Amino acid sequence: MDTALIDAGTSPTQPLPAEALTRLRNLLLQELSVQTDQAEEQGRTVAELRTDPDTAIGQFEVDWELAEVMVGWSEEAIEDIEHALARLEDGSYGRCEQCPRPIPLERLEAIPHARFCVPCQARQDAMR
Ligand SMILES: [Zn+2]
Repeated sequence: MDTALIDAGTSPTQPLPAEALTRLRNLLLQELSVQTDQAEEQGRTVAELRTDPDTAIGQFEVDWELAEVMVGWSEEAIEDIEHALARLEDGSYGRCEQCPRPIPLERLEAIPHARFCVPCQARQDAMR
């Protein structure tokens, strides 16, 4: 386990410099804690609105649905971030999951949990 951590930055298959990986790892960890807090908060809101049926009408019903949607977003984001962190550990981070191309560093800095390069992401989005 310890050797895997050390090798991740120096592995020849890893296209990104070690200092970029460190920076991206920090971004991911930061984002993970933000999303985890958000999911917890939204989860509490959903639970509160659910246990009090009198408030789950009109405006509150809309809020309840919105809160549930936001929990879904946070959970999706957490999944993506955890996936990215796992790929950082095994050294496959920074490569597209669809094709052998590396994901450009500027894309990773904008979206550290990006799974695909830009053309593959466009194809994924078009398929939805
Ligand atoms: Zn690709």
